[in-house]
Amino acid sequence: MPPDDLIPVEEHLSRILGAVDRLAPVELPIMDAIGLTLVDDVIATAPLPGFDNSGMDGYAVVADDLAGASRQTPVTLPVIGDIAAGSAAVTSINPGQTARIMTGAPVPLGCTAVVPVEWTDQGTAEVQIFEAPRLGQHIRCAGEDVRPGDLLVCAGTTIGPREIAAIVSGGWGQVRVVRRPKVAVLSTGLELRQPGEPLGPDSLYDSNSFMLAAQVEALGGVADRVVVATDDPKAFALALAPHLSSADAIVTSGGVSKGAFDVVKEVLRERVRFDTVAMQPGKPQGFGLLGERRVPIFTLPGNPVSSYISFEVFVLPALRKMMGRSLLSRPLHEATLTESVRSVVGKRQFLRGKYDGGSVDPAGGPGSHLVAGLAGANALIVLDEECASAEVGDRVPVLVLDENF
Ligand code: AMP
Ligand code: MG
Repeated sequence: MPPDDLIPVEEHLSRILGAVDRLAPVELPIMDAIGLTLVDDVIATAPLPGFDNSGMDGYAVVADDLAGASRQTPVTLPVIGDIAAGSAAVTSINPGQTARIMTGAPVPLGCTAVVPVEWTDQGTAEVQIFEAPRLGQHIRCAGEDVRPGDLLVCAGTTIGPREIAAIVSGGWGQVRVVRRPKVAVLSTGLELRQPGEPLGPDSLYDSNSFMLAAQVEALGGVADRVVVATDDPKAFALALAPHLSSADAIVTSGGVSKGAFDVVKEVLRERVRFDTVAMQPGKPQGFGLLGERRVPIFTLPGNPVSSYISFEVFVLPALRKMMGRSLLSRPLHEATLTESVRSVVGKRQFLRGKYDGGSVDPAGGPGSHLVAGLAGANALIVLDEECASAEVGDRVPVLVLDENF
């Protein structure tokens, strides 16, 4: 257990998850629904395939005509026409006849098998066939994939390429999905400059607002990056105000430590619960519901690595809940440690790492200002509260960043 003034990671996370709800559904064109959660079951109203069709390029035949056909004793049939996919020029054949047929083209009435071109001399007026097909061979039957009333894709599924194939095959070009959360990202700090602006001896570029906005977009949200390069409470309050009526969530970075000029804390003291969470990095955290719309606000620490990890651990699960996803936090994998690492008992440690699917190399130094080290990592090594150190060869839990889940 962490010391009394620290709250466990789970406690902060469950307080957040208890306070956020799924957003409203919207109907969207299917291509705008990629990555979003399907709200309703999609039920087939027609069979798939919709009609009996050929599984091969070949010849539509009456199987009985070809009994005993072989290289030595080929059967010759007159070709009465061609059937291409999308054009049913020949709609029936009689015994003793054949028609050339292409993959996906409707099988003509009377046809009981399709002979692949490879079994023939590929004739166009008449054709020699060297092998006898089984009854029904290479015919794809109507409804063999899906029958009317079958479930095509179930509610709660995240729409991706495979779901899109099934939904569009069923005839839908629009679907109801949970809408994307609009997330305002506000970075605070008098020292912050935007790319292109000159740096003074005491300033640095505002990487957090870009990084956090990118984290929002990577999980399917829409980020509104707001620059509040100030530590002035009035200016911060003014910049925050419009988002209370438009945003689904607000994420701030900086201004939550114990120093002077901690503008976020100062302005939101009454409205946000500020906690010290038993984790490293990312100790100072705040969460609240602001304004009449009770917009969730996450106040993250300013150091870039702390900001990044805080987003992954607290904001990402909350936004995923708002998006109707069922798995909220990144799944933990196990990896073999290639270097020994230290931790602090009582705090959950998140170390940057490079994971190759089997082992993980600790990457980047311990400082939470080391942005280049962050760029070199693709995983977080998670050392729990009881752990003081882990040795080479130990199996440790890792969060694989950028993993689809
Ligand atoms: P603060 O919590 O505001 O005291 O910030 C902690 C540290 O993070 C300071 O060194 C800040 O300069 C740095 N920092 C704060 N905001 C940003 C930002 N938007 N981009 C990059 N670094 C930041
Ligand atoms: Mg600051």
